[in-house]
Amino acid sequence: MPWNRPLMIVILVGLLTLTWWRLQPSDEEVRRSQLLMGTIVEIVAEGQKTAQLESAVDSAFAEMTRLDLLLSSYQPDSDVSLLSQSTSGRDVKAETAAVLALGLEVARRSGGAFDLTLGRLKSLWGMDGEHPAVPERQAIAAALTGTGPAALTLDGLHVGKREAQLQIDLGGIAKGYAVDRAIAVLKEHGIGSAAVNAGGDMYLLGQKPERPWRIGIQHPRNHDAILETVQVRDRAIVTSGDYERFFEQDGQRYHHIFDPQTGFPASNCQSVTIITDSVALGDALATAVFVLGPQAGLQLLTEYPGTDGLIVSADGSLYTSPGWASYRVAP
Ligand code: ADP
Ligand code: MG
Repeated sequence: MPWNRPLMIVILVGLLTLTWWRLQPSDEEVRRSQLLMGTIVEIVAEGQKTAQLESAVDSAFAEMTRLDLLLSSYQPDSDVSLLSQSTSGRDVKAETAAVLALGLEVARRSGGAFDLTLGRLKSLWGMDGEHPAVPERQAIAAALTGTGPAALTLDGLHVGKREAQLQIDLGGIAKGYAVDRAIAVLKEHGIGSAAVNAGGDMYLLGQKPERPWRIGIQHPRNHDAILETVQVRDRAIVTSGDYERFFEQDGQRYHHIFDPQTGFPASNCQSVTIITDSVALGDALATAVFVLGPQAGLQLLTEYPGTDGLIVSADGSLYTSPGWASYRVAP
């Protein structure tokens, strides 16, 4: 039987394409995890040269370690701890001031749902210690004395404290800021495609070689199930949930996001996912919306252009902002 000419051409072109594709420098991937800021931080970087990827990832981790020393309340001589120890306030480093400025802005816009002055309350619950427990009502009231969006003032680098005993806690925003900085460092090293994830505070830079980054959002009540899959590029995606850090007492679940009005864990949501430009903003907004609940939370998001959210309310219902659908990947 004679050869079919068109078929031959198709096969030949196919083989040539395959050869060309195989001659392309293959993409390398460096993936590393480290325990940092009380969580597991994972960095994935993709590119052509492994050595460049390795040194970029090293520098990104070093940057996050530096920020932990600056912003953590667990480091006794961090900028934040020194501020907490001061009686009426003090000057802070420019970066600390920038994080405080963003946090105070979200605090104000959220009507105090986001609150940087809950340090005493957090210690009282012992949430990060060995023996967390529900405190006495009076102790909660005392820990809330003087807290709120007007408790701190920022004037240039000077932070004023309304009450001497106020303890500053950047736990709802510092990790996000550190991820933003890690991404900036990766970019400075010429990395065009990377993912940084600090326990649900994520940034996805560029895209994987063949397709955009895809993120599965965990179901808040079914550990093994994915609630939704989204596709993002050059975006922050942050989830706050009641299922990661919690303890149980008398059959009741107590988690780590507090309602500043009551001093108890916020009870309006199971989880909140925010997609926006910066991880610091997404981190603060996820916490704020978690406290506010679906209606007031979605209302807050309308004040931030280019920001979208997925909220699972306390009864398990799903709420999304109008732009959320554009990120959704069909299951
Ligand atoms: P995660 O740390 O799991 O990513 P969040 O970003 O929601 O979760 O931050 C929770 C942390 O934020 C708490 O551990 C505490 O340090 C702090 N925090 C708790 N409640 C509030 C609140 N209402 N406003 C601001 N920060 C808060
Ligand atoms: Mg947060």
